[in-house]
Amino acid sequence: MSEPESTESAAEIVTCPECKRRLLTRTSMLCNWCGAKINDPEYQARAAQNRLERDQQERTELESVIQEEAQHGILGRLRRLGKQNKANGRSDTPL
Ligand SMILES: [Zn+2]
Repeated sequence: MSEPESTESAAEIVTCPECKRRLLTRTSMLCNWCGAKINDPEYQARAAQNRLERDQQERTELESVIQEEAQHGILGRLRRLGKQNKANGRSDTPL
């Protein structure tokens, strides 16, 4: 999937208003370099949305683990993981 560059908004902030350095992420409310708050409502809204999506993804993964443990119990999960290790031919697992 590729988007034409022309769709990128000119108002989109990718540099810090304080130190003028390029931001490393767009999910942080603060500059990665100097810690200044990015004073732009659009940027803040987008950063909050990005964090929300990331949190939901992590929660979905966590829920699948919880469901598996509820069905098989934690011992069943560990046993299955152990079988996977043996299938890989690793008898000397550090655990
Ligand atoms: Zn900065």
